[in-house]
Amino acid sequence: MVRTRIIGGTVIPVSERGLWYASGHVVVERGRIVSVGPGEGPSTPEDEVVDARGKYILPGFVNAHGHAAMTLLRGYADDLPLMDWLQKKIWPVEHGLTGEDIYWGTLLAIVEMIENGTTAFADMYFHMDRVAEAVAEAGTRAVLCRGIIGSGPDEGSRAIEESRAFVNRWHRAEDGRITATLGPHAPYTCPPQVLKRVAEVSAQLDVAVQIHLSETRSEVNQMMSAYGKSPVAVCAENGLFERPTLAAHCVHLDDSDIDLLRRFGVHVSHNPGSNLKLGSGVAPLPELLRRNVVVGLGTDGAASNNNLDLLEEIRLAATLHKGVHQDPVIVDADTALALGTREGARALFLEEGLGTLKPGAPADLIIMEAGSPHVLPLYNPISQVVYAARSGDVTDVMCDGRWLLRNREHQTLDRERILYHAERIAARFAP
Ligand SMILES: [Zn+2]
Repeated sequence: MVRTRIIGGTVIPVSERGLWYASGHVVVERGRIVSVGPGEGPSTPEDEVVDARGKYILPGFVNAHGHAAMTLLRGYADDLPLMDWLQKKIWPVEHGLTGEDIYWGTLLAIVEMIENGTTAFADMYFHMDRVAEAVAEAGTRAVLCRGIIGSGPDEGSRAIEESRAFVNRWHRAEDGRITATLGPHAPYTCPPQVLKRVAEVSAQLDVAVQIHLSETRSEVNQMMSAYGKSPVAVCAENGLFERPTLAAHCVHLDDSDIDLLRRFGVHVSHNPGSNLKLGSGVAPLPELLRRNVVVGLGTDGAASNNNLDLLEEIRLAATLHKGVHQDPVIVDADTALALGTREGARALFLEEGLGTLKPGAPADLIIMEAGSPHVLPLYNPISQVVYAARSGDVTDVMCDGRWLLRNREHQTLDRERILYHAERIAARFAP
């Protein structure tokens, strides 16, 4: 078994606050990190040696919320009120998407994410078998669910049974790179009996749940007038939070909502770029962190972002709340980088150690150029990555010990073919 020894670069393990090694090593064997630290590390003559001088070595980014195949709708409709955007533009086109379309749209998303250093992502969409096939081919890590909408009669139970079949086919597949979950879309599209049923089935299958929650002010108002309770309280009351739950957005929370999230151990995906672009608001990230809620970062779909660049979300997390609170120390670089890596992996209920570089952890890592003008001179690499680097600085990406990108060349995917098919499909939607 070939060991890979990456040496000479600045290593940012994200395992401890402020930790980095100016000239360090990372050794990978059988998909796991076996050594991290200063110097060149343990060596054998058979090692594959990767010279990372003048580069950073850090954990791959984790995208904790999204809808990968929505890359096909990137830029299709922008700058509209949320409900017009959804009802008049996005939903009609989504309605016509085939499994084949979603396969190519997901691959377009994965090509983009690999190139910008993302090694794991969450996805809620439909035709999920085709999404899982794309993930399997790409060699990336993903936490997948079929979106469950339960508004019509039987619609919820049908979607739940399809989800069950999907979980049975794909949960822990591809050496554990694929995790299947249940995905009730939101409390405003899933009535209480659907939420209850999702909780029961997720317990039977022993899988986690992903849901959109408290994204907009109007969602909160709608839940208040229907049930006299906030979206968070509706989920809590219907047993959803008895299950491991990842809640996306959580923009409009009051004190008792945050209390419920903390008490039930609900994890949150903070999606600042999407929340800004759709005019939804700004989530209370500092308060969630202060109350020890596990928070990761997500891009959301490319129709509402409009890219899948997690480094942009890391920078937004580090700057947005400073501005909102007029407080330059409220979310620092160290915290923001951890949210986009280690905490994102925790938020997705992934294996302990993922999102860090430490012995025993699965080898999901990236190498970034550190010698370009926009990242020089170097005082603190964590600050440099968060505030100055660009995702285009990523040169190499490894997931589960396998190279997905080497010197900016894809190792698992045919980039040209994927771009061709994505454009061919998009031509159908052109007005
Ligand atoms: Zn979403």
